[in-house]
Formats: sequence, C-alpha cells, structure tokens
Amino acid sequence: MLPDITLSPLPGGDVVRRFIVENRPVRGHFVRMDAAWRALREHRDYPAPVRELLGQAVSASVLLAATLKFRGTLTLQLQGSGAARLLVSQCTHDFSVRALVRVDEDRLAEPPAGAGTTPILTPAMFRRLVGEDGRLIVTVEAAEREVRYQGIVPLAGSSFDECLEGYFASSEQLPTRVRLAADETHAAGLLIQQLPGSRSSLEDAEAQSAWRDAQHGIRSVGLGELLGSPLERMLLRNFGQRDLRLFAGSPVRFECRCDPDRVASLLRALGADEVREELAEQGTVTVTCDFCNRTYRFDAVDVEELFAPGSTPGTSGTSGPAPGAPHSVH
Ligand SMILES: [Zn+2]
Repeated sequence: MLPDITLSPLPGGDVVRRFIVENRPVRGHFVRMDAAWRALREHRDYPAPVRELLGQAVSASVLLAATLKFRGTLTLQLQGSGAARLLVSQCTHDFSVRALVRVDEDRLAEPPAGAGTTPILTPAMFRRLVGEDGRLIVTVEAAEREVRYQGIVPLAGSSFDECLEGYFASSEQLPTRVRLAADETHAAGLLIQQLPGSRSSLEDAEAQSAWRDAQHGIRSVGLGELLGSPLERMLLRNFGQRDLRLFAGSPVRFECRCDPDRVASLLRALGADEVREELAEQGTVTVTCDFCNRTYRFDAVDVEELFAPGSTPGTSGTSGPAPGAPHSVH
C-alpha cells in the first residue's frame, strides 16, 4: 500500500490530482495508478517494453482527460508501422480507463534487460514499437457519441513524453512538459502547463520565471519518484521553491463499457452472411472484448433475432475507435 494514504485524505493508489503555482499562470496534473493499472491488463501478458508504453499511454490519456473539459470519452491512439501497430487507451470524463495494444511479437524480438523502475523503454525501443511514420490521434466523443474533436500529430521525438508535448504544442498551443512512467505495478504521469493571461510586463516576467522553475522541477523528477513517492513529497522536493496549491483528487478506475447491444451492433455491421457462416461452422458465434476479455455468445436464435426484419439496429455501435475494432469474433 502506498504511503500516500497516510498523507492524503483522498483517494489512495489510483488517483488524478491537480495543482497550481500560487498566483502564477502555471498548473499541473498528476496521475498514478496501481490497482487500476493491474486490472486493466489482467487478461494480457505484454512484453515489458510494450507494457511500459501502454502504461505511459494510459497515464497520458488520463492527463489529457484531466486538462480538457468534456463529458464523454477521450480516445488516444498510436498508429504506426512498428511492432505495436495499434495502441488504444480510453479515458472517460470521470476517469474510467481501458486500453490495449496489438503487438507484432516477431518484430519485437528480445526485449532489452531491465526490471522494476529501470527505464527499459529506451529511445531505440520506443522507435521499434511505434515505427518511423506513426501518428498520435486524440479523439473526444461527447456523451451522445458525436465526434466532437480530433487531433492528429506525427509520432515525433524519441519518447512518448516528447510526442505528447508535441501534441499539446500543436493542438492547444499551451507550453506543456510531460513525464510518463510505468512498470509492473504502477503507471504514472506528471504534466505542467503555462497558461496565458499576463496583464503586464512585470507579471509576464514573473510568469516566465515561475514557468522556468516548473520546467526545471519536472526535469528533476526521477522515474522511481514518479511511480512510488508520495505526491506531496515529490512536489516539495522538485517544485518546493514556489508555493503550490494541491487540490483533492479524483479516483481513477479500470472499467470496460462493452455490453450486449454494442456487440450486437458489431455483428450487424459484419453482415448476415458472414455471421451465419460463422454460426454454421461453430454452432455459436462468440465475440470476445479485447479490452476486458468478456465473451458474448450468440446461438442460432440470437443470430436470427439480430437480422430479423424490424430489429432495431443498435445506436451505440459507433462507439470506440473505428480502426481495428477491439473485438475478436470467433
Ligand atoms: Zn469489455
């Protein structure tokens, strides 16, 4: 159990929290997950560097969700020609997360040595995973599932930190610095941003000074500290030259939102011929959710109901990332 619990009244190991530099236009967000991080990949055994990339992506999606005002789901996707050909991480406005990576194990080869908090996701490994021409895609869907916003940036740089900074620079035009980390037991992220709004040159000079201090602070945060140190202690050690205000956090949890209606929509989208063929071959049609491993079975009666004239097509079938729909039909 993390020592945070004795220091922070709210909540324990799975939490996202906001802080500000008092009287200066600098803010920060921090996320750390333990039980949620383990639950999220309970059904999958990823190679260590892939797991680390996934943990960074999940932390990034929580930080993005924390900085944006929306109600619905934020989807972060990495698409590229590397060994991790598709990575999807979703976070809702109330911080329920789910995520997966599709890995080409052959192309990953032997992971480099490293364990615990050792950064095994080296720049070279990062490139091997995301490829040379990858893209970072952030989509925000409002609760009624209309796509409200999408931002795409090239996966530039030698780390996920740099990619995410590039995303903020191009999509929000807010100077942003990020540290992301993950190991077997924890995933964590820290983000600082300089906000606009100086009204005078004196204010501007003070704002710049506070921003320089904050950047120095985030650079000095160690990965082990990010993953395991109580937040207050980490902030004090690295940002202690400024007065900070730390706000109460929100819990982060793993939760999959797959349901029978959504799966039915998926099967309708596949088409009657293909589904009936599967039924003839297997006796039942089984769909497994790749996020949570829950299985949905459809027998002959269910399948006929799916395609009966007048059956209501599901309205929720468009949710989730379109490319590489995260279900396996078999
Ligand atoms: Zn699911």
